[in-house]
Amino acid sequence: MTATREELAAIMAPVKHVLLDFDGPVCSVFAGLPAAEVARRMAEEFTGPEGPPPGHDLTDPFAMLLRIAEERPELVPAADDALARLEIEAVTRASPTAGALQFLEAYAGIGTRVWVVSNNAGSAIEQYVDAHQLRSLVAGCFGRSPGRPESMKPSPELLRAALRAARAEPEEALFIGDAVRDVEAAHAAGMTAVGYANKPGKAKTLAAAGAVAVVSAMAELAGSARQS
Ligand SMILES: [Mg+2]
Repeated sequence: MTATREELAAIMAPVKHVLLDFDGPVCSVFAGLPAAEVARRMAEEFTGPEGPPPGHDLTDPFAMLLRIAEERPELVPAADDALARLEIEAVTRASPTAGALQFLEAYAGIGTRVWVVSNNAGSAIEQYVDAHQLRSLVAGCFGRSPGRPESMKPSPELLRAALRAARAEPEEALFIGDAVRDVEAAHAAGMTAVGYANKPGKAKTLAAAGAVAVVSAMAELAGSARQS
């Protein structure tokens, strides 16, 4: 299922810009502050006289934000802001993905620019990038647009924003992510996607979604960086 070193090198060779998902390929955002706990705290904060917010029983805070957008759009700016604050707290306890630094260094070394594109809050991503001294290895960060949860993947919006900043055509870029929505967003933006399967079963679903290759370790992708 996973791609060989040579296959990966061939896929990556023409790529001038790598767009990289954050939660998964870079770090495990909710390793120290679990997503379910974030969702619980979000629901608690928005429980008022009218009762709990829409989606209060969900364990995925992003799904809750989308539900709030559907049913109580007036709450979105504050809910998005609350989630961003919790994500900033979460990234202080996030665990770096094995091989992620190696990957970023390898691609910086051959002059390929890497842009982080994520449904996480931009403020949380920036905080992690600074805390882990990755600034020189990352060309830019594109988190969800504040107050606009509809900008999240599978929408191609954030990928297109990164391409604009890179002044790149979709064919010159590639997206690496660990979820089916990442592959879908890449395709919607006219880009190919490589899957990072960090859990059992993901390789199959990412390949079925149309990922051109699937790896099980970021170190494999680091090894695909070749001077052209
Ligand atoms: Mg992810």
